[in-house]
Amino acid sequence: MKVTKSDGIFIIRIDKEDSVIDELIRFGRENGVKSGIIAGIGAVLNPVISYFDVHEKKYVTKEFEGEYELLSCNGNFSIKDGEVFPHLHVVLGSRNFSTIGGHLNSCRVSGAGEFFVKPLSEITIERQYNDDVGLFIWNL
Ligand code: ZN
Repeated sequence: MKVTKSDGIFIIRIDKEDSVIDELIRFGRENGVKSGIIAGIGAVLNPVISYFDVHEKKYVTKEFEGEYELLSCNGNFSIKDGEVFPHLHVVLGSRNFSTIGGHLNSCRVSGAGEFFVKPLSEITIERQYNDDVGLFIWNL
């Protein structure tokens, strides 16, 4: 991972074979990020993504083997159980130009991992479990 900064925005290169989630957690810890905006593109390997069934209150999770374009990664940093937590959703493109998407559980960079993070300095967004929803949602 290589990190630089301009205009109050971190510019992060996550390197080939590295885990996107693990590297963003490491970035957040090392830079004291508690809340912020995440945006990224690139190419990833073996993504594991989920769909949250709001009626069942549980995730349906699937691993997709192979390489995918990371067409859009949109998310945020918050604090969950006292730890910095990147919450990421992705749209992934396959070789036949079809797309899949969902809540990102894990993936590794297969080519490029290009991310921007805009930290929010005036707020700490904490997550709290909401029994009605069945998720850790923002406690604002
Ligand atoms: Zn999600």
